[in-house]
Amino acid sequence: MDTEVIVAGAGPTGLVTALELARRGIGVRLLDAAPAPFAGSRGKGLQPRSLELLDVVGGVTDRLVALGRTHLPVRRYGPDGVVDEPARGKAPTPDTPWPSTLLVPQWRVEQVLRERLAEFGVAPEQGVGVEDLLVTADGVEVVTTAGTIGARHLVGADGGGSTVRRRLGVPFLGETREEIRMVVADVELEGLDREHWHQWGSPSGAPYSWVALCPLPATSTWQLQAGPLDDREPDESVLAEIVGARGPRVRLREVAWRSVWRLNVRMVADYRVGPVFLAGDAAHVHSPAGAQGMNTGIGDAMNLGWKLAAVLRGADAGLLDTYTAERLPIAAGVLGISAELSGGAMWARTAAQVRTTSQLDLSYRDGPLGGASEGPGPRPGDRAPDAPVGDSTLFLRRREADWTVLSTQDVEVAGAATVVVGDEAAATYALAPGEVVVIRPDGYVGCRATVSEARTWLAPLTARPGTARAA
Ligand SMILES: Cc1cc2nc3c(=O)[nH]c(=O)nc-3n(C[C@H](O)[C@H](O)[C@H](O)COP(=O)(O)OP(=O)(O)OC[C@H]3O[C@@H](n4cnc5c(N)ncnc54)[C@H](O)[C@@H]3O)c2cc1C
Repeated sequence: MDTEVIVAGAGPTGLVTALELARRGIGVRLLDAAPAPFAGSRGKGLQPRSLELLDVVGGVTDRLVALGRTHLPVRRYGPDGVVDEPARGKAPTPDTPWPSTLLVPQWRVEQVLRERLAEFGVAPEQGVGVEDLLVTADGVEVVTTAGTIGARHLVGADGGGSTVRRRLGVPFLGETREEIRMVVADVELEGLDREHWHQWGSPSGAPYSWVALCPLPATSTWQLQAGPLDDREPDESVLAEIVGARGPRVRLREVAWRSVWRLNVRMVADYRVGPVFLAGDAAHVHSPAGAQGMNTGIGDAMNLGWKLAAVLRGADAGLLDTYTAERLPIAAGVLGISAELSGGAMWARTAAQVRTTSQLDLSYRDGPLGGASEGPGPRPGDRAPDAPVGDSTLFLRRREADWTVLSTQDVEVAGAATVVVGDEAAATYALAPGEVVVIRPDGYVGCRATVSEARTWLAPLTARPGTARAA
């Protein structure tokens, strides 16, 4: 074996997967077919749950928050004039420190993840594409443009056109709607204020009747989205025309990146074939309405990363089967909500839809590690909320270990760090006398039990002593 895990694709999904493995001391190579990192903005909304998930990766969320912004108000231009809509954002609470979607271009998310990954000595190998693969008795032989590499596992995080998925022969079920297209571009312009997300018209009208211009924080650029397209190639002259029509003083200066987006709504029926896993856009694609794609890929990576690391260090191999079982229903739900929000409905989201797209309510309660259990407080499979712990917080304490046991008394559970909680955290978790709550490495409740039951529950899921290291 040349390495323990090969990750194909250094987009957000591949970077987080590699980070989750590298920080646990797993040998990983991150290959990307493109000669250089992707420069366009694409996804520009990091959802509250992603900010929580990335927090344990170490400093990443703080850095992204410093480079992004929340509460950007929308200015809508319609037949009845200009309407300023109040910013949709919430104030932090003790259990939800990042309650609002963070506006930050995807290339920036990737840059911050690459910087963190470099701290573990891993850099994406740009210009090395996966061409084929062969599953062997003890792993997988991966044929790349730079030769064949052997590994115990391969993670296909190589985007919607995934070579890994195709070589596995896994069908990508769903539809492509060639007629539903829009142009997406990063542009420099003058004549608009950067304190609003400016939006005109509706995506279901005449050609270019819908235009949105969003200032990208910590840059001088804007993300332009416009549609429906007409027969023309949306080149710089078309973009200059679209932007120039926004007002007498509005003028396009430069196009840094542009692309035509087509509606694809597809997903796989299984995320795993033997030692090979699919994650992110390689496993599911849908409308960008609702800002779910990058976030769902990050969720996949956080779910898979710790499981793969634990099994490579001696945990029960059956843990890997829980990846598809937990993540496939999430993708199916994301395809549903993004379809619901397409075609303009995005701009009139209900409070319930905003909550759904925040991903804070995603739960693995019905999955194999959850188990039906009724009662107060977060149940097994639910998101583990933050809470004050002494002069710190639970989220800060969780950065120190993979598994965390919450208890009102000092207890010992092998493979986990104990956090002794006071009244406020005990109330958030509705801790009963004698009960402990075990929190998984990816921030979901593992089990609620007595200490001895928790020890028995956790033993097969953790690495063998002396083989794992959480950074
Ligand atoms: C206009 C637009 C707006 C969007 N808005 C949002 C948003 O607000 N929020 C959100 O969450 N999502 C959004 N998305 C979706 C988001 O961009 C994608 O879901 C996200 O990029 C998926 O990440 P990924 O890492 O799975 O795949 P990708 O980002 O596609 O990365 C795949 C990587 O694999 C590499 N690769 C390809 N083939 C190979 C190969 N054979 N071998 C090795 N490497 C290979 C590619 O070079 C690439 O770097 C938006 C998308 C668009 C187009």
